[in-house]
Amino acid sequence: PIYLDNHSTTPMDPRVLESMLPYFTEKFGNAASRNHAFGWDAEEGVEAARKQIAKLIHADAKEIVFTSGATESNNLALKGVIEMYHEKGDHIITSSTEHRAVLDTAKALEAKRGVKVTYLPVDKFGMVNPEDVRNAITDKTILISVMFANNEIGTINPVKAIGKIAKEKGILLHCDATQGVGKVPIDVQDMGIDLMSFSAHKIYGPKGVGALYVRKKNPRVRIAAQMDGGGHERGMRSGTLPVPLIVGFGKACELCEQEMAADAARLSVMRDRLHATITKALEDVYLNGHPTERLPHNLNISFAYVEGESLLMGCKEIALSSGSACTSATLEPSYVLRALGVGAELAHSSIRFGLGRFTLDEEVDYAGKRIIETVTKLREMSPLYEM
Ligand code: PMP
Repeated sequence: PIYLDNHSTTPMDPRVLESMLPYFTEKFGNAASRNHAFGWDAEEGVEAARKQIAKLIHADAKEIVFTSGATESNNLALKGVIEMYHEKGDHIITSSTEHRAVLDTAKALEAKRGVKVTYLPVDKFGMVNPEDVRNAITDKTILISVMFANNEIGTINPVKAIGKIAKEKGILLHCDATQGVGKVPIDVQDMGIDLMSFSAHKIYGPKGVGALYVRKKNPRVRIAAQMDGGGHERGMRSGTLPVPLIVGFGKACELCEQEMAADAARLSVMRDRLHATITKALEDVYLNGHPTERLPHNLNISFAYVEGESLLMGCKEIALSSGSACTSATLEPSYVLRALGVGAELAHSSIRFGLGRFTLDEEVDYAGKRIIETVTKLREMSPLYEM
């Protein structure tokens, strides 16, 4: 089988696993145990990882709060800010193509806390317009939450321009950068990001650990904890730290810092070749997302007259996602593609290719060949397709 679903999750880098192993066995201590060497060893591992993670995003180690993943980070950011700053206002601005972990958190805040949420539209490439952000701001706005890069179409938002507006208006900016961190350079200082969610399992680290970056100065951001307990993570997120996972997360960030540029260069060439092969062999194929402002390892294509699900069935040996499978149980077409104005039919016929650090040239070539074969076969059987 060939794995081309790296937006969903990534395999762990063997070097990451290596770094984690001692923390399951001899260095098993609780990082909060201050009275003995078992605790000190664990704490040392955690603090080294915190530095590696902070370095990748140009933050300070003290600004990293460990969570169970980006879903929790997004919940903590939105709910934590609303709870902390509700006296200043009750309005959030976000976008219509955010991940469910942001959209559903916003919806929960609307339903349970009477928060008002503006869901900004995106253009036909899936991009948020910074001027729309500016125009949506009211004197009640306390948070802007815009994703760095979209998980389906890979479009990268103009976060720096949005950060500038947020700063100008004195409003906090949260960014769900789960798909961007470790893939393209992200600098929370330069981009004016105040809170940022990301996750280890998208960057060749372990599942079950993530982080929320929480700015410490200019301004000092405060969030209300969403779990009561021992007051870990500077009171923002209680719970004994998963030391081996955190050590692996740190190693994964260090490797990304060193290899991100080379990975991106290699994968974008592979991705563009796959795209070119497909468009050369098949007519009526459409690229979804931005032609240039996109993640280097992402390709999302609609194959007209073909059901994405049937296409996946036809090449089962290749792990891919379709524009209907993302919200899996239902067979609704992707709300992300719908938000770009892609019709229901074409949304149903879309496939997401997600290349990764371990993707080989021959795997991409094979995938291209099989997709072309399968689309051709399915179209021959389709009453809608005229040859
Ligand atoms: N945000 C985005 C943009 C994502 O792609 C994902 C993972 N699909 C998440 C949040 C949730 O991350 P996690 O799996 O770490 O909870």
